[in-house]
Parts: sequence; C-alpha cells; structure tokens
Amino acid sequence: GNYAGAASKPLFTVNSPNVVYTDSEIQSKYTYRTTTVNQGPDGKYVATPLETLYDFKVDRKVPKLGVMLVGWGGNNGSTVTAGIIANRRGLVWDTREGTQAANYYGSVIMGSTMKLGTDSKTRKDVNIPFHDVLPMVHPNDLVVGGWDISSLNLAAAMDRAKVLEPALKTLVRKEMAEMVPLPSVYYPDFIAANQEDRADNVILGPKACMAHVEQIRKDIRDFKAAHGLDKVIVQWTANTERFAEILAGVNDTADNLLKAIEEGHEEVSPSTVFAVACILEGAPFINGSPQNTFVPGAIELAEKHGAFIGGDDFKSGQTKMKSALVDFLISAGIKLTSIASYNHLGNNDGKNLSSQKQFRSKEISKSNVVDDMVEANNVLYAEGEHPDHTVVIKYMPAVGDNKRALDEYYAEIFMGGHQTISIFNVCEDSLLASPLIIDLVLVTEMMTRIKWKAHGTATAEEDAKKDYQSFHSVLSILSYMLKAPLTPPGTPVVNALAKQRGALTNIFRACVGLEPESDMTLEHKLF
Ligand code: NAD
Repeated sequence: GNYAGAASKPLFTVNSPNVVYTDSEIQSKYTYRTTTVNQGPDGKYVATPLETLYDFKVDRKVPKLGVMLVGWGGNNGSTVTAGIIANRRGLVWDTREGTQAANYYGSVIMGSTMKLGTDSKTRKDVNIPFHDVLPMVHPNDLVVGGWDISSLNLAAAMDRAKVLEPALKTLVRKEMAEMVPLPSVYYPDFIAANQEDRADNVILGPKACMAHVEQIRKDIRDFKAAHGLDKVIVQWTANTERFAEILAGVNDTADNLLKAIEEGHEEVSPSTVFAVACILEGAPFINGSPQNTFVPGAIELAEKHGAFIGGDDFKSGQTKMKSALVDFLISAGIKLTSIASYNHLGNNDGKNLSSQKQFRSKEISKSNVVDDMVEANNVLYAEGEHPDHTVVIKYMPAVGDNKRALDEYYAEIFMGGHQTISIFNVCEDSLLASPLIIDLVLVTEMMTRIKWKAHGTATAEEDAKKDYQSFHSVLSILSYMLKAPLTPPGTPVVNALAKQRGALTNIFRACVGLEPESDMTLEHKLF
C-alpha cells in the first residue's frame, strides 16, 4: 500500500499559477462560474454570469482506512470482502470459460477514466484513471470488518450467498473463515419476520437505547485500534428496514432523537442507532438501503457535529439504467409516458422484500428517480404532469442472486407516434453492488480531506484570514452510486446519471485547479 504517511506520487501535476503543491497539500484557486436568473415583471428572464473564487486544499496523506459494514455477513458484505481479498492477492482462478483474474469492474473510481486534456503534439485526448485524479486510498489497502445479526463467519456467509465461483471461494476460504461479524442490534419490528431465524448474534435489548449507541462506538474504536487505522467509514448494507414514522418530539430534531434513544422509543430503527453512533464517533456513515435512516433529527445531529453522512440505497441495476435511459429520452425531446418495472430475485434481500412494509421502502426509493428529469422539461410536461410509473418486486428463490429486472418504457414521439422500449436486465445483484460499496467508501474518504473557503467581496487580506471549511455534512456528491440521493436540506435532488457523474468528475477536477470537463472541443473545430 501507499499509505505509510507519505504523499503518493501523482500521475500528473497541474502547471498553473493557481495550483500549488506542498509536501502535505494540493492548493488550488478555482473560479466557479454559474448563471443567476431574475424574472422581470414582463415574465422575461435576465441571466447574469456569476463568478465565485474558491480556495481548495487537498490533504495529500493517504490514510490507512478501515471500512465496517453493517450486514457484513450478507450477500453484498461477503462478496465485497472476498473481492477485495482476491484483488489484494492478485488471484486468478478457473471457471468453465477459462481463467478469471480479480478486477474492479463496475467501480467508477477503479474502472473508469477521465479526460485530462489534449496532447500538445498529437491533438488526441489524454485519459487517466479516475483513481489518479486525486490522492485516493486504493481498495486493496482497505481493512474490512463489521457487524451482522447472523453469527456465520465470512467463509460460511459466502457459501450461503451463492454468488462466487467455487474455485475462487477455495482460494479465499481460509482468510474469510477468520472473519467473524460483531454482534449487532436487532429490533425485530423493523425487518421482515422471515429474517428472525438468522438473528443469533445480537446485542441484547429489542429497542433503541444509549447502551447500543455506546457499544457501536466502542466497536469502531476497538477496530481502529486493533488494525492501527487512521479512519473508519461505516456503511449499512444490512436488510431493508420499514420506514420509521416521523414523529414530532421523537425524531424531528437532534435533541429529540437523542432523548428518544435514551427513553427507548420504538420508532428508532437499528440503522438510525448506527447513524447516531457514527455521527457521535466522527465516522462517516453511508446508508446503502432504502429506508429513512436519516430522519430529520439524524441530519441535524450530523450537521451539528460536522460529521459526514450519505445515502440512500445503492443504485446498481434497474435504477441505474433508468436514470441513464430516461435522461436520454427526455433530453432527446421524446415524451416518456409510462415506465413499468418488474423485478424478481431469489436472494435473502428478495426474501426480506417479500414482506409488505419492507417492500414499501424499496418502492418509494425506486419511484422518485425520474422526477428531476421530468420537472426540468417544461416543453414536454405541464406543471405537475408525470409519466405513469409502477414498480413490482417478487421473491423467486430459484433465481438466487441473479436478479431479473424487466422494464417497459412507453413514449410519445413525433405526430402522435409511439415508441416502446423493453429491457430485460439479468445480473448477479451483489456483483453490481460490491464495486459501489467500494466507490462510496473511497469518495467519502476523499471528501474528508478536501477543505474550501470562498473569497467574498471583502479585501484579499480579510479573505486570507478566513478559516477553511469542509463540504456540507450530507455528501450529495455520492449521488451517482445511490438510488434516492440524500442532499443537504432544501437543496435539489439530481437523479440523472450523466449529471451525477459530471458533479463527481468536476468537483475532483476543481480540487486540482482544472476546468470542468467540457465537450466543446473548439480546438478541433476552430483552426
Ligand atoms: P442480505 O440479506 O444478503 O444481507 C443483509 C445482511 O444484513 C444479512 O446477513 C442480515 O443477517 C444482516 N442484518 C439484518 N439486520 C441487521 C442489523 N440490524 N444489524 C446487522 N446486520 C443485520 O442482502 P444483500 O443482498 O447483501 O443486500 C443488502 C442491502 O442492500 C439490502 O437492504 C438491499 O435492499 C440493499 N441493496 C442491494 C442492492 C444490490 O444490488 N445488491 C442494491 C440496492 C440496495
């Protein structure tokens, strides 16, 4: 690994008076250009270009990082753990199609590139791995741990998951067998009753209490100490819970939420208890499932403590396609009028979702994913007008983790014509989710090392005295990986996949003083 405390040697440097490299930091002065709009009494708009000058600084020291998964013994938890071990050891194994080597396909950070610029001689694009834009943790260096209400060690959990090839399992079995999830909190009312028989590894007590919060905080500290870690990030990849009711006096404010936990209120979910523990412990917490873990009181608590949170619900298969395809259709001026989405799956996630209240959480998170694209097109859609949208999920044990997603998109084209697009998407659910778990960890960790300050109307001297700050507690930069992105209160949600990637790419670029990726390529048009 390259953590060892030293600044890793970058693949490129930026040659600009606005960018300074020190041993410990990359400092950039970045002019953010936007457009502010005013509507006059005549209804006409006036658009005014706006510039804000920011100072960014990036801590170049790549930390030794731990990730603790809640639901570690599940399909995602066991698959991502085996995948990291296999990559770390550079494993190659036999399959019926030949040999297969470990890789990080499906990870934006590890598997995709970004255009750095244009080669001065050949005029061709120069592309670099996303991982090399900023000094990031390498996933091979992650130390993985976590909790599960099921006591199976990770080798047994990987067998139960039925995701990985036998030859690969044999190679990682010994290491995985030594990994045993910590006992977790289990409040039976929040997940499906059909999960009860696996709950043999629980911290006693059927509802929220401060002792549970303290136990989780202690687990994080112990893990950190045992592995000599600089930082720990916690991610919920446990079962989908039912929604918690938002109740005045219970979970509406930070103080009320803490009081509700002290008093053992029954509307506090296990995932919210984990979130609160992480916020108090200063460990970033990401929710990979659809439930409303981040009740208003939890968000307020994170803001108060300057702790990072992100969510909700991994955007892996059907919804990822949807947020790309609908973006394309509506941007092409085609009027999408309905989306019918059917899923069937046979893993434990599907079993849990066969219960109505837990399905409802998923239905909500899958349903709002085209809203921003529809709302933005006031040519095709009148105010409040929406395509019809339905989501069905059925449990079909035989297909296991090989989830099926069938989608029909029905659209109105020129002169009353119609276009029907049917998609049949089949893939191992956990092999799609695992790289997202890694990306969420790597990006979140990176965000803990980026600081900013804005230059205002004050004098340069006064600006220099201002303190650097962190990004807002709610990390909406993670949206690309999430179905129902959590954003800072009062700010818009972006679901369109290309825009989400643009935000991720261009924020990273800004931190090294590079302009946003632009596809104008005037250099190839004006000469
Ligand atoms: P899984 O059922 O195989 O794993 C969940 C694990 O969580 C189980 O081992 C279970 O014992 C454990 N668990 C339940 N409650 C717990 C608690 N309170 N504390 C600790 N552990 C607990 O499911 P999976 O396929 O790994 O998916 C995990 C979650 O990710 C699900 O909620 C699913 O909806 C969500 N998700 C998955 C995908 C995907 O593509 N795989 C996509 C989006 C969201």
